[in-house]
Amino acid sequence: MCRSNGAVQRGCRVVRIALFHNSLFCANNDFSWTSMNMELFVLGTGGMMPLPSRGLTSVLLRREGELFLFDCGEGTQVSLRRLALRWKKISVILVSHTHADHVTGIPGILMLSSQVERNEPLYIIGPPRIREYVEESRRILDMYINYEIVVKEVSGAETVFEGEGYRIRCRAVHHTKPCLAYCLEEQPRPGVFDPQAAAALGVPRGPMWSTLQSGTSVRLDSGAEVQPGQVMGPQRRGRKFSFVTDTTWVPGLPDFIADSDLLICEGMFGEDLEEDAEEKKHLTSTQAARIALQGGVGRLGLIHYSPRYTERELKRLLHQARRIFPETFLTRDLQAIDLPFKE
Ligand SMILES: [Zn+2]
Ligand SMILES: [Zn+2]
Repeated sequence: MCRSNGAVQRGCRVVRIALFHNSLFCANNDFSWTSMNMELFVLGTGGMMPLPSRGLTSVLLRREGELFLFDCGEGTQVSLRRLALRWKKISVILVSHTHADHVTGIPGILMLSSQVERNEPLYIIGPPRIREYVEESRRILDMYINYEIVVKEVSGAETVFEGEGYRIRCRAVHHTKPCLAYCLEEQPRPGVFDPQAAAALGVPRGPMWSTLQSGTSVRLDSGAEVQPGQVMGPQRRGRKFSFVTDTTWVPGLPDFIADSDLLICEGMFGEDLEEDAEEKKHLTSTQAARIALQGGVGRLGLIHYSPRYTERELKRLLHQARRIFPETFLTRDLQAIDLPFKE
């Protein structure tokens, strides 16, 4: 059975692509994957153990065609194939911690990644012991890998990866073993070019406009120099995406995720189980909402649900979170979420 529907949720465009229960290679062909340049695909939303309708925690961020995988629970490659993304190469796998529900999908993704030609390495970033896990899996499973794997172990607050126009940072959170939260931040974008200002300064339409737009001054035939700041508006902020799971409340977390356009954060339990959450080093949906509120994020997507909750019962967790932070939604397996520029 393949069901799909489009759904708009509070304050955000959430495209519910499809829920597949029995069919592996089925996709909503009406959906244009190329129309957005930053989007998130939810590959699994469960914590602890997978359920028939709920894979283990994993999300895939696509930015300008580059793919970043955050956590990789068992069955992640199945969700990827269900999405029929025509995905090619994951650049980086960012691992929160080495509990089974966050890493057991890695061997499968590594083998799947050997199905495409690639010259670039695949980076795997995570807390201590991620290298041992990856290397031992490769060795014991005799994996055929036709590309370079670069593993980087990190433990504190630092920039862990940088690319053109963005960087990925991590910071330690507080779980039953070393665990990391991540954010991907884009650099500010240039301001809007003002053609009237350019014309008024006597800059002829053509290559000089492009030069100014690229941030370089130009010299006119008259000898006058025109600076980019004379024809460009103020810089505009880039987007920010944050991923937080398997932690208790940590001071400084709202600062770390501050101003995210989208925060994906665990809401494993309802507020009635706050003591359990504290003991097991997890967050309730209400605590996730407080982090979102204090951090001033645009939207909060809850994830890593306890298997004790049915789909219907998750609405209670959502309701509790929305009392604190109205722009909260429940992530769903195989959901696509657009992250447009705000301005
Ligand atoms: Zn977990
Ligand atoms: Zn855990």
